[in-house]
Amino acid sequence: MSAVSRRTFLKGAAAAGAAVALSGAAAQGYFAPGAAVKADAAPVEEWKPATCPGCHNPICGTQVKVVDGVAVEIKGDPNSPTNQGRLCPRGLSVVGGLYHPYRVKKPLKRTNPEKGLDVDPGWVEITWDEAMEITTQKLKECMEKDPRTLFTMTGFGNEDSFKRLIFEAAFGTPNSLTTSGPLCADHFGPMATKGTKVDKCDMERCDYLLLMGRSIGDEWGLAHQNTKEYVDAVARGMKVVCVNPRKTNSAQTGEWVPIAPGTDVAMCWAIVNVMLHEIGRCDEHFLKVRTNAPYLIEDVSETLKGTKVCFQDYVRDGATGKPLVWDEAAGAAVPFDSSVGDTYALFGEFDVQGKQVKTCLQLIKDYVVDMTPEWAEEVTTVPAATTRRIAQELVEYARIGSTIEIDGETFPFRPAMALAPGRGANSNPLNVELFKAIEVVNELLGNIDVPGGSLGLEHGDLHVMKTDADGLLLPPEGDSFKNQVIGQEKLVFPPTSYKLECFYPHELHVMQLVWRAAVDPESYYLDYKPEVFFVLGGGNPLRSNSNPEPVVEALKQIPFTFTISLWMDELTQFADVVLPEHHALERYALWNATWISNKGTSDYSRRLRILEARKPVVEPVFDTRQQEDLLIEYARVLGILPKMTGIANGGFQGKFMANKPAGLAPDYALNPKEPYTYADVCERKLKMQFDGKGWDAVSECAVVGFELPDVKSSYIWHWHPENAYRIPVYFSYNARSARMLREMVTENNIEFPHADIDEVLRQYSAAPLFFEFEGMHPTEEYPFKVLQFKTHFQVNDSSGLSYNHWLHDVEKHFDPNLKKVLLAPARAAELGLAEGDEVIIESMYGGKTSGVLHLSEMIHPTTLAISGKWGAKGTGLIDFAHEGPHYNTLLNDDERDIGFMMGNLNNSVAVKVYKA
Ligand code: SF4
Repeated sequence: MSAVSRRTFLKGAAAAGAAVALSGAAAQGYFAPGAAVKADAAPVEEWKPATCPGCHNPICGTQVKVVDGVAVEIKGDPNSPTNQGRLCPRGLSVVGGLYHPYRVKKPLKRTNPEKGLDVDPGWVEITWDEAMEITTQKLKECMEKDPRTLFTMTGFGNEDSFKRLIFEAAFGTPNSLTTSGPLCADHFGPMATKGTKVDKCDMERCDYLLLMGRSIGDEWGLAHQNTKEYVDAVARGMKVVCVNPRKTNSAQTGEWVPIAPGTDVAMCWAIVNVMLHEIGRCDEHFLKVRTNAPYLIEDVSETLKGTKVCFQDYVRDGATGKPLVWDEAAGAAVPFDSSVGDTYALFGEFDVQGKQVKTCLQLIKDYVVDMTPEWAEEVTTVPAATTRRIAQELVEYARIGSTIEIDGETFPFRPAMALAPGRGANSNPLNVELFKAIEVVNELLGNIDVPGGSLGLEHGDLHVMKTDADGLLLPPEGDSFKNQVIGQEKLVFPPTSYKLECFYPHELHVMQLVWRAAVDPESYYLDYKPEVFFVLGGGNPLRSNSNPEPVVEALKQIPFTFTISLWMDELTQFADVVLPEHHALERYALWNATWISNKGTSDYSRRLRILEARKPVVEPVFDTRQQEDLLIEYARVLGILPKMTGIANGGFQGKFMANKPAGLAPDYALNPKEPYTYADVCERKLKMQFDGKGWDAVSECAVVGFELPDVKSSYIWHWHPENAYRIPVYFSYNARSARMLREMVTENNIEFPHADIDEVLRQYSAAPLFFEFEGMHPTEEYPFKVLQFKTHFQVNDSSGLSYNHWLHDVEKHFDPNLKKVLLAPARAAELGLAEGDEVIIESMYGGKTSGVLHLSEMIHPTTLAISGKWGAKGTGLIDFAHEGPHYNTLLNDDERDIGFMMGNLNNSVAVKVYKA
């Protein structure tokens, strides 16, 4: 770039796409007044390392070009191990957000006490001192009255866990909510079988990938290594079978199997049926030594709401209480840990303790006997022959019995797997069941945590597996998703928090019910209401809740709401005070990303964990602050800083490396008597990590990968001998929770809130389960199932990217689905509808929204699909946010079609469509 002053640059850049926003912002006086630059001075130009904030798990390294204090360009950092120089459209739009005209520029106070989506809040600017005084006073009152009445909420705009884990814990409120929850049952399977949040395919060695649902890459981290690995694997010849109502980008790289939305569980259990009843081949050794398949159980089922369910505990040894197995060598029942297990029976019925018992795997085989491909075809529309062929292919490609040598160690080699990467249309009352079924398919193939197969995120020596007394894998202590698998150990009635933990023992919190409970706490057996609602980190329940109306009602009733916000959005519309937050490029961030690259020998391989450490690349453009510093300040004034500091010193980021402590080692510990900032916290953690180097360790690249010494160390199999832990094919924790729930309701003589207890309990079956639920299928009146899908322009709302005008401009040019309603041409013709028609979509639950029709052959004929999150309501948003259909309006947020184990909502309901 030729030498230009900052002023010349801003003037001359108006024609360039990137600079349009900059010059617009400058014209409106958006730049910090203190940043005056002499017109004649030579420009100071430098590239600064940063990290992208654009994903839910943002792990791409960037370089930002800064000219005289103004960020003018962003590119992928070629030295970053995660993205190696790549950036996706979201990452490339980040600078637009920095100078976005809709940012909150100063603290704001509401002057209009009336609240509503269309009500002008009457904002007035106030000083930071005034803002802190008002909000601190409210927090103080809350703390003195009852700390539980403080409700906090974070969203996916978070890059680290400092705020979430520390402030709320020190304050003493159990009501720390996140916008995650209603769709998050997808962590159940990986947590149960690998102790990690997400299943991941061993792309480097896998030859056959059955993808149930979401596409890899285009619906997630496009520039990440994950996508690169996927593309490399496809180029290498990995066969991809994509079961999805929509022909995603992944489906275009292999075979597309169109399926009716929300029915995948039927197909998965049918695959299990074919494997057990027709093919008769599974990895018997794996099942004997690594699962609870041989544990003995009485086949005592009951029928709830017409569905056969099983809540049985194992048959146990009278002396030790341990689960029994049938040892074929001994011809007797023995405790499960009597030997490694390769002589244990996998199938069969036995006479033990005077009872007729069977193995857990036999029980599963019996439960799926009627779940044939023909049965599944009725539910899913997938031809029985296709399901049968896929089951056959999985078994063939898995090469059961084969081994592979890596770094001199012999591993089982299972290069085939089924993967349900994430959430979506399958969020419904059977969502947990889908993840159970997927894991059982993989366990039958013996592919868990071995080369070619189904891996977790965290690996190697950091991931020490612990077991319960029954030998089953326990998810890591302190992991927020641990409860998804094991539930509460004891149910205490009444609930103490709005997470309703005694009614939903496996969930983090039932986000969509919080708002109903806030308006009507008694019906949920709660004896207090929220007094102060404090939202930070991008939390926005109005955008993420299934139906905004109950949230609006609750927000109107909460006496005081304040937010730390980057943007004006639907939520700030209800705030009493809005505190302006630094943009990602203005703030410090330290992020312990739970991500692992491929195993193998390429230069990006063998990385165990990623550390991201970002310093501000520009001075704050507006009068904003780092939100962690605000929390430290609140803690100081409220007198809880010593407690908060103690928690921080104890460990808030987990471990980066096995030989380093999780918390701050004594030399680097924070002292609550000495003032500190979040920048100090980051520096101490970095110094501890990098032997005193601190920020210098990340001066070139803000993303650091920690490598394992060899490839074999990255497989869990390497670290844990056979029988060290077992994973469930029979999900005994579900059964335990069902038994406890029934007892709690009976003992306290109460009704389950707004639901029939039998409906609740049947979803806890530990054995394979299937039932039809309200809204599972289209009806004559509502002949479509609605589906929301993501594109690489719109994944989630991290750092407000949905309303980023640069991204929107690009999207307008390149995405024909933007804000459209997709329908198969033949179905549209039946209804007399044509391309470009304005249509109304009406849900079986009464919600209505509108949009423009786009005809597509890439949609299952029973499906009506909508991309992204549009049609926003509220007065303070950028104009284009209001355009397009509002998906969530169509959904139901009450207990009629909820998944009772995880509290997840039905994300694909029946709808009708007609001309506007
Ligand atoms: S994949 Fe995610 S982290 Fe990477 S550039 Fe895109 S938005 Fe940023």
